Amino acid sequence: MQVETRVRAINCLHFINGQFVESQNKKTFDNINPATEEVLGTVAEGGKEEVDFAVRAARRALNGKWKNTSLVERSKILRRIGDLILERQEELAHLESLDTGKPFSLSNSVDVPRAAFNFHFFADYITSVSTDANMQDDIALHYTYRRPVGVVGIIKPWNLPLLLLTWKLAPCLAMGNTAVIKPAEWTPMTATVLMEICKEAGVPDGVVNLVHGFGPNSAGAAISEHPDVDAISFIGEPRTGTAIMKSAADSLKKLSFELGGKNPNIIFADADLDEVIETTIKSSFVNQGEVCLCGSRIYVERPVYEEFIERFTARVKTLKVGHPLKADTNVGALVSKEHYERVNSYVEIARNDGANILTGGKRPEGYEKGYYLEPTVITGLDRNSRCVREEIFGPVVTVMPFDMEEEVIMQANDTHYGLSATIWTNDLKRAHRVSHQIEAGIIWVNTWFLRDLRTPFGGMKHSGIGRTGGMHSIDFYSELSNITIKL
Ligand code: NAD
Repeated sequence: MQVETRVRAINCLHFINGQFVESQNKKTFDNINPATEEVLGTVAEGGKEEVDFAVRAARRALNGKWKNTSLVERSKILRRIGDLILERQEELAHLESLDTGKPFSLSNSVDVPRAAFNFHFFADYITSVSTDANMQDDIALHYTYRRPVGVVGIIKPWNLPLLLLTWKLAPCLAMGNTAVIKPAEWTPMTATVLMEICKEAGVPDGVVNLVHGFGPNSAGAAISEHPDVDAISFIGEPRTGTAIMKSAADSLKKLSFELGGKNPNIIFADADLDEVIETTIKSSFVNQGEVCLCGSRIYVERPVYEEFIERFTARVKTLKVGHPLKADTNVGALVSKEHYERVNSYVEIARNDGANILTGGKRPEGYEKGYYLEPTVITGLDRNSRCVREEIFGPVVTVMPFDMEEEVIMQANDTHYGLSATIWTNDLKRAHRVSHQIEAGIIWVNTWFLRDLRTPFGGMKHSGIGRTGGMHSIDFYSELSNITIKL
């Protein structure tokens, strides 16, 4: 299905030392529209050579004009980037939806405004960051001095391309670092436009660089193994994290990893079921379920299990699956053929494991082309099924009943992941008790996705290393020296 749009897809070039450039060998690859399977445009395919140019430009810029840019000037530049993102909101939201397949309504109301806010937030935040000073009797004064980490490699996934890139780039620039960015190969467009915006906002040449390409044996690996990159900020799959950690080990880079999740959504019988169902619709299917925080393992206390299943399934059936640019679309297309096939393979696994597919599990009618899958609700699976254990990262959830609090805590923790969890209960003591026992970096009680950018964000176990947000981001993107002056 075709939908007309005023915004045209763009061909994507690298951005190195303030200039848009092709690859040395002129190599490109096609950018495919997941909603139609048509070619949107071409993308320059970078490798070692382009990454090396970009790292050298970033190193020069780090020691050049950027070094002497005051905190107030940096704050102004960040604010200007945020403003320019908002000025180009509609265009960016269109490009994001064309690339990812997500509904325009979502890109326009969440991804792009949040990208702007990431810059506005850190523009304000850095002006209030103080350093510590300690008097040791009359013997010595100790104080801390913060400096940039250096050249930071930022390697991104495809699910929230602009939102997540800006979440890392804003604090990176705020603390005076320079960056070499690699967007995901499936979603290159908004990162490319962001480079234009950075230039217009006054970011000096070489401070922000972008190299398109793939991961292994390509631009991604070239960044993680480059000896002159000081830190890597990575968001993606745990096994990619392992590969990056290995190649970054030779030069002992500082690492920040935000990885996958298989998050439990635990519903106790005393919760307000109307609220539970509306929020669970979002936490299951927003962005086609392609959000690391989605609660894809739903556990429901037995007394309300049947009622939940009936009402939730009925509500899921009302969701409109369709072209991302149509105004009434709730669930768009999955990002790529490869990912579509991967998500579908899990539906097949569930069928083979004897599951009940209560709704979904197939293409919506009227869509022969494009990577569409109806929101899928699965019951009847054993906790050892791969659908219950592995991150599917699509519009597929499993629902399981439970009887005891200890039992659901044990099941929730029975995973290598530890990113987020949601707990639904009106019992205050239980809310605290269960929260303290769930092994996850982010725990929501009676809500989901509610964020304050000052708070720590990140996962434990195989879901990540380190935290970002507020001071946690400032700490990652800076190095502290303690200076002791004898009095
Ligand atoms: P991915 O790991 O396949 O790719 C992420 C990025 O890494 C891409 O740019 C890719 O080209 C690059 N890459 C791949 N192999 C590489 C290598 N060997 N060396 C260097 N770079 C390499 O992940 P994805 O499929 O793009 O994203 C989905 C995953 O991201 C899911 O697991 C999801 O949960 C996770 N995610 C986590 C968060 C979070 O905040 N914790 C947020 C969004 C997505």
